[in-house]
Amino acid sequence: MTDQYTMQDPTKQYPQADKSWQQLQRGPGLEQQMGPKPDAGETSYRGTGRLTGRKAVVTGADSGIGRATAIAFAREGADIVLSYLPAEEADAQEVVELIEKAGRRAITMPGDVTDETYCRQLIATAVEQLGGIDILANIAGKQQNVEDIAELSTAQFDETFKTNVYALFWLCKAAIAHMPAGSTIINTSSVQAYQPAPILLDYAATKWAINGFTKALAQQVAAKGIRVNAVAPGPVWTPLQVVGGQPTEKLAEFGAQTPLGRPGQAAEMAPAYVFLASPESSYISGDTINATGGMPTP
Ligand code: NAD
Ligand code: MG
Repeated sequence: MTDQYTMQDPTKQYPQADKSWQQLQRGPGLEQQMGPKPDAGETSYRGTGRLTGRKAVVTGADSGIGRATAIAFAREGADIVLSYLPAEEADAQEVVELIEKAGRRAITMPGDVTDETYCRQLIATAVEQLGGIDILANIAGKQQNVEDIAELSTAQFDETFKTNVYALFWLCKAAIAHMPAGSTIINTSSVQAYQPAPILLDYAATKWAINGFTKALAQQVAAKGIRVNAVAPGPVWTPLQVVGGQPTEKLAEFGAQTPLGRPGQAAEMAPAYVFLASPESSYISGDTINATGGMPTP
């Protein structure tokens, strides 16, 4: 039985993409319906008590990187409020089961993060039901490829910014009002912030914005003893990519451009969120952990 501590060749740890990876679902998509099945650490993540007794809110917790992070947080000893869209209930219930199996509490709170009222209710749910909040992992995100700016609608531009940037603002604002010293916020950037793809105009812009927001907020709340950091993933095999994040035909070579030569899996992102959430990273704030398969970052 291998776990995240087992030494392996990272180039061979997970498969490369091929034609069988080409698939298209309607957004937001279900991880349950993806083949090959992504790895969110369901059978491999081993906790060692690094977040014992912590109270976390995780957005996008049903699938992909949020799912892997929720599983890891629970196995490290945290109770969790899970945010996701109502259409993702089936994926979310699998995560609930795994959290409860780890002996931790899972509170579900489906809703739309582009709604400020929902964002406030999400944080209030943690305060009421977990007795507080000391970790906020902002992982929900929207990515839709569009070839030509002429075809990029104002509605999409708006929705990408509302999901990726405005929600971050609303959730941080609501959470900070309740966070004790020692709390941590982890945002989700992307390699797209540094190497923006021409077909991801709106998305790449939001990820750059998230880096700036993270660095500014980290300085603002440092005196309160709250740290704010980001994780910037490279290409990771999640529902986001099969609902139009990438053109379907491109999925056959997804992740091939990375020096490690393969796509990442959500299970490989979760340890970065755990590290930034835990007091192990006590002197790190306003920074980013890049998990890009070796793609150069600034
Ligand atoms: P994913 O589809 O599994 O997760 C995205 C989640 O966002 C969804 O599960 C959904 O619950 C949530 N979401 C989207 N719109 C929402 C809304 N309006 N209200 C509430 N929730 C909403 O895909 P993922 O790849 O795990 O994405 C997680 C994060 O990682 C995103 O911020 C994404 O930008 C970032 N990221 C992903 C990759 C990648 O290659 N997969 C690379 C870099 C960054
Ligand atoms: Mg999902």
